[in-house]
Amino acid sequence: MCPLGSACGYKKVNGCKFFKTVCGKELPSTNSVLNYVNNGFGFVFENGKRLKGLELINAGYYDMLDIDEKWITKENHKIQRECYQNHTQYVNKEKIKVALDSLEYPIYHLDFETFPCPLPRFRGEHPYTQSPFEFSLHIETKPGVCDIEKDHVVFLAKTMNDEREELIKCLLEHVDVHKGTLFAQNVSFEKGRIKELASIFPKYQKDLMCLYNRSFDLLWIINNRKEFYQEKGFKGKDLETFNFYDERLSGSFSIKKTLPVFSSLSYKDLDVKNGTEAIIVYANYNRMSKEEFDKNYQALITYCTQDTWSMVLILQALRALIM
Ligand code: SF4
Repeated sequence: MCPLGSACGYKKVNGCKFFKTVCGKELPSTNSVLNYVNNGFGFVFENGKRLKGLELINAGYYDMLDIDEKWITKENHKIQRECYQNHTQYVNKEKIKVALDSLEYPIYHLDFETFPCPLPRFRGEHPYTQSPFEFSLHIETKPGVCDIEKDHVVFLAKTMNDEREELIKCLLEHVDVHKGTLFAQNVSFEKGRIKELASIFPKYQKDLMCLYNRSFDLLWIINNRKEFYQEKGFKGKDLETFNFYDERLSGSFSIKKTLPVFSSLSYKDLDVKNGTEAIIVYANYNRMSKEEFDKNYQALITYCTQDTWSMVLILQALRALIM
């Protein structure tokens, strides 16, 4: 068999279809040698040889545990290997506590769904601008105080016309931009959309930018954020390592991976399961019958709602974890 390489397009949309079924079939679907985080430089072995990415598979290393401890130099990789080998969790309670204590209430758990159209559709957009057509917002007024329905606001465009201004109005109607925290998993994405909307709709710029400036990321609590923890007085190894790790994450801190670790919820049973499916549903609005539209409209609402409710649940679980 020929060696795996860039031609395989591993993890790419247009990757070779034989990877999963033939050439890469020995690779475990979780906790494989490729699931060590930020491992662009790979590992240096006893003979001084460095192997990275698919070279590891070509050399016969498949499972995370196939990499001997003595070849692992990064602290996070040691944590990953240990959690996987011993089925244990890694928790840095001090860092998690400091992060949770720094959140200002209310917490605005926000998630946008966007359509990156190759051709700009609306005023102020460019090719592939992430044009928002939906948001879900859960408002947590005090630690743990948030009702899945009563404290929830959702906006979803009913057409493929430009409904961005209605979306902005709806968002600003439900947040106090002068207090609280804009909260998201990978908040830079939500911030990016808010900044774009602020520049396209100057009338709302001041309020949107106030909201923009009050952000905090769920990833900083679960994974890490060196600058934040440095400012809070942490040093050395603490600044480099995760705050939390569990073998079920398999090297990923995406909401789809973290949610099942912290709750019994999952995305598996939803009609719309991820952002790509959400885009497909929205982009097909005009091809749907009334019945199909109603069903899909509700599925989009359910999916986006789960994204923000997940963050509420994960925060709750983190509070319990450090008690
Ligand atoms: S997956 Fe296999 S067949 Fe496909 S490009 Fe890679 S080596 Fe070739």
